Amino acid sequence: MARIFSGIQPSGSLHIGNYLGAVKNWVELQHKYESFFCIVDYHAITVPYEPADLRARTADMALSLLAAGLDPSKCTLFVQSMVPEHTELAWIFNTLTPLGELERQTQFKEKASREESVPAGLLNYPVLQAADILLYRAELVPVGEDQLQHLELSRDIARKWNARFGAGFFQEPKALLTPTRRIMGLDGQAKMSKSLGNTVDLLEEPASIWEKLKPAVTDPARVRRTDPGTPEVCNIYHLHKALSPAATVEHVAVQCRTAGWGCIDCKKVLHESMEKELAPIRARAKEIAANPKKMKDDLAAGAAHARTEAQKTMREVKNKMGLT
Ligand code: SF4
Repeated sequence: MARIFSGIQPSGSLHIGNYLGAVKNWVELQHKYESFFCIVDYHAITVPYEPADLRARTADMALSLLAAGLDPSKCTLFVQSMVPEHTELAWIFNTLTPLGELERQTQFKEKASREESVPAGLLNYPVLQAADILLYRAELVPVGEDQLQHLELSRDIARKWNARFGAGFFQEPKALLTPTRRIMGLDGQAKMSKSLGNTVDLLEEPASIWEKLKPAVTDPARVRRTDPGTPEVCNIYHLHKALSPAATVEHVAVQCRTAGWGCIDCKKVLHESMEKELAPIRARAKEIAANPKKMKDDLAAGAAHARTEAQKTMREVKNKMGLT
């Protein structure tokens, strides 16, 4: 089995954008690959935060991931700060990475432009990302298009380290470009994101989801019930494509184009499709929340396994570099 690694920020419970865009795919991948999934709390501290809040968000993310279907008996799920070798290898990689390459990273430029004072950690973020992946000598990394630049940097760092200390030691990780979807928020304006308040939480109750769906933005051409619409420009249609059966998606498109139904009818059908997907996840979340010790133990076991693998890599890295 090829090995994969992927990380996710501890942003609290998952929203359906994270779920449909990445985590649902991880649930399938865990059966096909030797999978390492990491809640990257060291990455999360590169921007201002409250410690108690970070701890709560990390626990909520773990619960969401398990409820979404990650199975600790099939994959290694752990929290990054439980495996200190991540930062150890990141320091080593920092000594090999040209400053210019880090300054050119698009995500750094975007994030730095929003900060009054830019911490070095924000600049070095992709170096830690390279360490996350290479520590496990992962062959494949499930990523979306927006992460390709960071992955290229990881490949570059692997090449630099190999050229200096040990040809072929780190294999260059490849992107596993999976059918990740870019899920727009309910405002139809931007990607679904907690900071924009346009999300549906993975564990949200159906009544609350409906209150959000009712006012969600649709095709602006459908002013009156009798106005035909263009499903492709409507986010509700794209959510149908992610959640409803193919026949329903087809029906939605026809009903929209012919003004055969109103947007509320369309949203009711979407709500039903969502419920089919989310009800079992909510039920699992309740079971997990009722037994917090088991979740803690699962994360500890995941970290122990990850650490064993990480230490194997670090022993060889340090040996080849003349470190003790
Ligand atoms: Fe969107 Fe459905 Fe309304 Fe068409 S009918 S605009 S797809 S909500």
